[in-house]
Amino acid sequence: MEAVWESARILANSRLAVAFKGAGISAESGIPTFRGKDGLWSRFDPRDLATPEAFNRDPRLVWEWYSWRIERVLAAKPNKAHRLLARLEDSGVLKAVITQNVDGLHRRAGSRRVLELHGNVLRARCTRCGSKLEWREKPSNLPPSCPRCGGVLRPDVVWFGEPLDTSILEEAFGLARRSDVMIIIGTSGAVDPAGLLPLAAKESGATLINVNPEPNRYSGVADIELRMRAVEFAERLSRALGIDV
Ligand code: NAD
Repeated sequence: MEAVWESARILANSRLAVAFKGAGISAESGIPTFRGKDGLWSRFDPRDLATPEAFNRDPRLVWEWYSWRIERVLAAKPNKAHRLLARLEDSGVLKAVITQNVDGLHRRAGSRRVLELHGNVLRARCTRCGSKLEWREKPSNLPPSCPRCGGVLRPDVVWFGEPLDTSILEEAFGLARRSDVMIIIGTSGAVDPAGLLPLAAKESGATLINVNPEPNRYSGVADIELRMRAVEFAERLSRALGIDV
């Protein structure tokens, strides 16, 4: 059977399906992945900027990059792949979206149970009093300060070398272990501990469906390999399942 139709059949018959995804799903919404080259910021490696050390060294530089990312995220719209996951949740097929992304596009597409493992760039938190705020436009006066206590704000995301929120991580591993199907979309799987989730699901007996135009960590482990872009997958799967996205 053709692999997309086979995926549709597996999903339709699943008991507890979850999605695990990365930056690739938002690439077609105009939000670059870390490995892409992009104008002004191509001079910097994002993996050097998304660290506590970079922020301590030069908070203004790190905030300039986040301010640019916030602007991109505010201008972006969810694409058919985000909408597909929301429709699958509406119809009871999908139980949760576990995301490494920090762009909030799943909630905007209508997904309700979204586990944001790495935080959200549209939120900031105070390095002094811990209070949080949400950006409706990109911040000015960088680095921005806390309206409550005047402390320096930081993006409410998990940087390289920082621990993930324990309760979110436990919930994600619990779901992965109980799932019988995991759809993996647009991630290289390179960042641990998040990247271990599909392996935990597989170990507990789940069927893995891996959607990525390039080979990744799960190629060779996944039961179904779909070498295609997230939007093409969404178009073909929704047709196979008879749903609109
Ligand atoms: P990643 O693991 O998210 O890699 C991107 C993957 O997406 C690659 O495997 C690539 O082949 C695949 N891809 C590219 N275009 C695609 C498409 N149209 N459809 C499907 N797959 C596609 O790694 P990263 O980008 O280096 O990110 C590292 C960390 O930073 C992760 O936590 C990531 O989620 C986060 N990040 C988030 C965003 C966002 O929120 N949109 C953007 C950049 C990075």
